[in-house]
Amino acid sequence: MDANATTPLLPEVVETMRPYWTERFGNASSIHLNGQQAHSAVDCARAQLAEFLNCHDAEVVFNSGGTEGDNTALFGLLRPGDHFVTTAIEHSAILRAAERLEKFGVAVTYVAPDPSGLIDPAEIERALRPETRLISVMLANNETGVLQPVEAIGKIAKAAGAFFHIDAVQGAGKVPIDVRRFGCHLLSISAHKMHGPKGVGALFVRRGTPLEPLMLGGSHERRRRAGTENVPGIVGFAKAAELAMLALEDGTIPRLAALRDRLEAGILALPGTGVNGSYIPQTPGAPSLPRICFCGKGGIPQTSTGHLPDNGCYPVPRVANTTNLWFDHLEGEALVIALDLKGVAVSGGSACHSGATEPSHVLLAMGLDKTRARSSLRFSLLRTATDADVDYALKMIPEAVAHLRAISPVAAGTAG
Ligand code: PLP
Repeated sequence: MDANATTPLLPEVVETMRPYWTERFGNASSIHLNGQQAHSAVDCARAQLAEFLNCHDAEVVFNSGGTEGDNTALFGLLRPGDHFVTTAIEHSAILRAAERLEKFGVAVTYVAPDPSGLIDPAEIERALRPETRLISVMLANNETGVLQPVEAIGKIAKAAGAFFHIDAVQGAGKVPIDVRRFGCHLLSISAHKMHGPKGVGALFVRRGTPLEPLMLGGSHERRRRAGTENVPGIVGFAKAAELAMLALEDGTIPRLAALRDRLEAGILALPGTGVNGSYIPQTPGAPSLPRICFCGKGGIPQTSTGHLPDNGCYPVPRVANTTNLWFDHLEGEALVIALDLKGVAVSGGSACHSGATEPSHVLLAMGLDKTRARSSLRFSLLRTATDADVDYALKMIPEAVAHLRAISPVAAGTAG
């Protein structure tokens, strides 16, 4: 239940990649037959990714994954004296790059989310300055799954004459991607989050975007990313994208949302638990919230954060596979280990931070106190998750929670 960290290759993906490690091992830059076979495989993959993103083939730049795409977008566009607007809940691939850019004289504004984990487009607009060159906002948050209103932000960027980058690493394969509708100039995706291979990804670069390459060397990828193409990886990525597009249409996403909702409801039945980043916590006595699936064919809804209903809570759109929950009087890391011993893999924060003791920057930015943030776990289902997986987890989680609370000196009264 840690699909937001990474996913296994689907068998079709492995089969598609296999020949490109062995008999079709050519370098896509070589002019002999072996090289040309590799070159045309990369071209086909580029066309498939262009369909996945709804862009022109020439706008797809293959790279090593989400981290490289994010870094390329920021370092490729921003120069000293520029202003950059991003959010406090981005992945470290954006946040660490932004910190480095600040040292080089780029001014950065980090827009905070509301308590439900949503970024208000009006806050992005308020952060703009005449010298704002780039806005970067993620499509789906890796820890909460909350989908951000990228289409509205794209319109704000256009009106301001700023470039707009989307980190779509956690949204790709879970909701339809349409770079034209999003109004972005740049968008990063990564194969290993969508049942493709690790170490390969792509950056959408809208035609005419004056992006300086991060990697210098040969003239690969139309001089936008030097380095011999990872042909098996690229071919596998394209196959994964093709399968993801099918899954967006064939009922997989609502099925996954129903599984996630059942898992979530089962955990919420335990005392002293709650969801982070689904909706504003309910006030005591307020009616319970409807379960709403925002994912699937219809695309991404844009949620207004302008007002709250009377009961002080409202649902926000999330990807179908993710839920982030707090467990009072528990240390998230202890629960991760206890569940791991029972065969249930979950995450106590974003995968790239595992091992760190600091509470999640995303949950803190949403206003959770450190104790509650530390008590939180992310459950993220694979596309291939089954009812049996959820049944098993719902058997193991109460056992682990009860055991840890029983030995916790501060948990008296919350056993269960
Ligand atoms: N962006 C987000 C939102 C992510 O969740 C991740 C990985 O967890 C990345 C970027 C980095 O992607 P990659 O692992 O392909 O470098």
